[in-house]
Amino acid sequence: MLRSAALPLAAILGAGASSGYLLQGPGAARANAPGAGDELLAVGPVPTRAQQLARLRAGSKDDPFDVLIIGGGATGAGCALDAATRGLRTAMVERGDFGCGTSSKSTKLVHGGVRYLEKAVFNLDKAQLKLVYEALQERSDLLANAPHLARPLPILMPCYKWWEVPFYWAGLKMYDLVAGMRNLAWSKYLSPSESVRLLPTLADPNPNARSLKGAIQYFDGQFDDARLNVALACTAAAAGAAVANHAEASSLIKDASGRVVGARIADRQGGGRPFEVHARVVVNATGPYADALREQSDPGVKKAVRASSGAHVTLPEYYGSQAVGMIVPKTKKLVWNIVCT
Ligand SMILES: Cc1cc2nc3c(=O)[nH]c(=O)nc-3n(C[C@H](O)[C@H](O)[C@H](O)COP(=O)(O)OP(=O)(O)OC[C@H]3O[C@@H](n4cnc5c(N)ncnc54)[C@H](O)[C@@H]3O)c2cc1C
Repeated sequence: MLRSAALPLAAILGAGASSGYLLQGPGAARANAPGAGDELLAVGPVPTRAQQLARLRAGSKDDPFDVLIIGGGATGAGCALDAATRGLRTAMVERGDFGCGTSSKSTKLVHGGVRYLEKAVFNLDKAQLKLVYEALQERSDLLANAPHLARPLPILMPCYKWWEVPFYWAGLKMYDLVAGMRNLAWSKYLSPSESVRLLPTLADPNPNARSLKGAIQYFDGQFDDARLNVALACTAAAAGAAVANHAEASSLIKDASGRVVGARIADRQGGGRPFEVHARVVVNATGPYADALREQSDPGVKKAVRASSGAHVTLPEYYGSQAVGMIVPKTKKLVWNIVCT
């Protein structure tokens, strides 16, 4: 059976991928996931691609890997790091480059999800509340683990009607409270002049139009999704996983009982015939492509993924600020400048 790393599409990027590990810089990673112990793990340099391919080829029928992960996005890289640091003999293959899929096209927020909290409150939905709580814990861990790739981001929620001020203030205070000890900074009300100083485009040039009543400032995290993905893949490799990009699982291998026990891997850079990699467990971490792999395993299987899309609109710097973001309360759409380093 193909085991799917079924993650909700709304899951915090790399959920479970980053939080269990304290990346200590070159030479060490601390595994603090349950069952992983809390000791510093020695990690070596990242082996070359040729060495990685040789290690992959070593996963034979008689000497299989414990786990083969197909897909090297945030989910796959996180699974690989988790498995390798638990001492499992781990392999991961990615048909493009690490993070070339959804994981480099996110909104780049490490957030608990203000809109999920709204749903939790208005629909009395405990599951949504749990999601926000867990995501806020992840936010805190990611900011602590990868401060070179993630930072707190102040976000303004502008209010143009008086009732919006106490309403959004209370909602964002609740967001702070759900974060508890892991809150980044307390949300607060900013006067119209303070708000315009931070985001000049909030000023309304037309004095007869609705006027700004101020903004509520709260904090979430912003991160470099692609670099975090590559960092996770490299750390997994340095911790002992056999990890290769431009290596596609072109077909699955099954045993006599029909269980998936590996995959044929096509080296999309080196060419040549696909080679077999055997494993006790095969993880489907192919994100939006998960059904294609599931269908290889079981033609006619009911689809598990329903595609949805989001759009990112790039605006001139005039509309934003590198220091703060803005969220449009009605649509919960975010506007901010991405700082390129
Ligand atoms: C518009 C949008 C905005 C988002 N914003 C945020 C956000 O702000 N914060 C946040 O935390 N999350 C956000 N998310 C969610 C987040 O991006 C996803 O949850 C995450 O990227 C999913 O990662 P993944 O590894 O499961 O999938 P992917 O990153 O898509 O990885 C799957 C990988 O599998 C590979 N693959 C497929 N088939 C094969 C094969 N046969 N062999 C080898 N490799 C294969 C693909 O090449 C791909 O790289 C957003 C998502 C969207 C769509």
